[in-house]
Amino acid sequence: MTLYDSSLRFLFNDADIRGECVVLSDALNEVTTVHCYSDSIKKLLGEFAAAAVLISNNLKYQGKIILQARASGPLELVMMECTSDLQIRGIARGNLKAEAATPLELLTTGQLAITIERDGGQRYQGIVALESDTLAGALENYFLQSEQLHTRFWLTAQQGRAAGMMLQQLPAQLQQQPATRQDQWNTACILAETVTPDELVELPPSVMLHRLFYETPVRIFEPADVIFRCSCSRERTLNALSLLPEAELVELLTEEGAITLHCDMCGTDYRFVQSDIPTLAENGRVH
Ligand SMILES: [Zn+2]
Repeated sequence: MTLYDSSLRFLFNDADIRGECVVLSDALNEVTTVHCYSDSIKKLLGEFAAAAVLISNNLKYQGKIILQARASGPLELVMMECTSDLQIRGIARGNLKAEAATPLELLTTGQLAITIERDGGQRYQGIVALESDTLAGALENYFLQSEQLHTRFWLTAQQGRAAGMMLQQLPAQLQQQPATRQDQWNTACILAETVTPDELVELPPSVMLHRLFYETPVRIFEPADVIFRCSCSRERTLNALSLLPEAELVELLTEEGAITLHCDMCGTDYRFVQSDIPTLAENGRVH
């Protein structure tokens, strides 16, 4: 079983509760090495990445979830995407040297937007203030407001890795009694609460789950791999470029001989000469 860069679903045998665990290593490092981030920002990006993977398990169709925080400083923006195929990418903008005692202090008076986007279709967005001290707390507020489902998150980032666990109450199925449902939920949370950040990043998730929920067994599903992948492409970049007025394209080509566009999310440069750009290739020459 893969230890890192994978996500693991589990279900409680006797309670309407599901969960998910994730540990990220290489996939996260690929996100954080695109820019020169401070250690605190790397941790923040790690927590965002773990959270994005955990939330993506709520996707019931091909698409992606986007966690995006805007704040007044030291960071202006943190964005992390996870597709239904568990491909992540993300970025932080603002003072990239900033350090903070806890990651969320980097987002002063911030707001967190959670967007669920279906491939080629609908988009749903919810917003929650970053009033909590932790990203986990902010996400819990969001789920309580928008989904009205009990959802808890445990997130950590350290030693170049990030990890997280989520528990979510499901609609009544195995257990119909509201009082018993509440008891089961409370018990699961109390047990989960005993996990330490070290255990989250170090233990194989299946071992951690067996230890935590020894008395309330869980069924663990096959882990799914998480990878870093940017959705940019030469074709998409060219499409964006083609939207510019022809005169502007001609000017850029005349100055530099080629147009280079840089993807901020993965660091790829796309270089185009005149013959690459369909409208210019057809209509004539650069003067
Ligand atoms: Zn890219």
